[in-house]
Amino acid sequence: MEKFIAGITRFQNEVFPKSRHLYEQLADGQAPETLYIGCSDSRVIPNELMQALPGELFICRTAGNLVPPYGEAGGVGATVEFAVEILKVRHIVICGHSDCGAMKALMTPEKVNGLKAVAAWIRHADRVAAVANALHGDLDDHDFLSRLIEENVITQIDHLITYPCVAAKLRSGNLFVHGMVFDIPKGEFRLLDRSTLRFLPLSEMLEQRARQEAISA
Ligand SMILES: [Zn+2]
Repeated sequence: MEKFIAGITRFQNEVFPKSRHLYEQLADGQAPETLYIGCSDSRVIPNELMQALPGELFICRTAGNLVPPYGEAGGVGATVEFAVEILKVRHIVICGHSDCGAMKALMTPEKVNGLKAVAAWIRHADRVAAVANALHGDLDDHDFLSRLIEENVITQIDHLITYPCVAAKLRSGNLFVHGMVFDIPKGEFRLLDRSTLRFLPLSEMLEQRARQEAISA
C-alpha cells in the first residue's frame, strides 16, 4: 500500500504538472487512433512499449491477450465494439509476448485444473494449441512456446475478424489490424506479415515495407 500511495503521490506532484496542458486538452473527450489488445502481464506495458501519450491508446488487456469470438466476448467484445464504432480507431494491435503464462498453461493444462475461471478462459486458445501441435510439435519446449505465442496472435486476430464491425471496416479500408510479439529480455518486436502468416523482426518488416514503397513509387 505504501508503494502504491508513494506512486500516485509522485505522479500528482511531479509527473502531472509536466503534462497538465495535455490532460486539460483531454478533459472533454478522447480520440485514440489505436486499440491495443495485449496480455495482463506486468512486464508488458502498452504505453511504454508504444511510447504513447495519454489519449493515444485505447487499451484492452486480458490474460494471454485472448479475444473471444463475437457473441462470446463479454467485456472484451464491448471494448472492441466501442473502440471501432464510437471511437473509430484506425488500427487494432494484438500484442503477444515471450514467457506468457497463459500460453505456458496451454502447454501444461493440468497445472490450472483447479482454476475454473482460468481453464474456461484459455479455452479461447484451444485452436492455438491444436495448430501449434500440428505445425511445430517436433520442437523443444522453448521453441514450441515461441511458436505457440505467435500462433495465438494469429488466432486472436481471426477471432477479432468475427466481429461484424471489425470485418466491415477492414473490408472498406477504414481499419487495419496488426499482430506482434514482444521479447521481454531482448526488448525486441516481431511483427506479423499477414500475407504469409510469418513473424518478422521489426527491422526486416521495415526493410520489406521500404522495398514495396519503392516498387509502387
Ligand atoms: Zn501473457
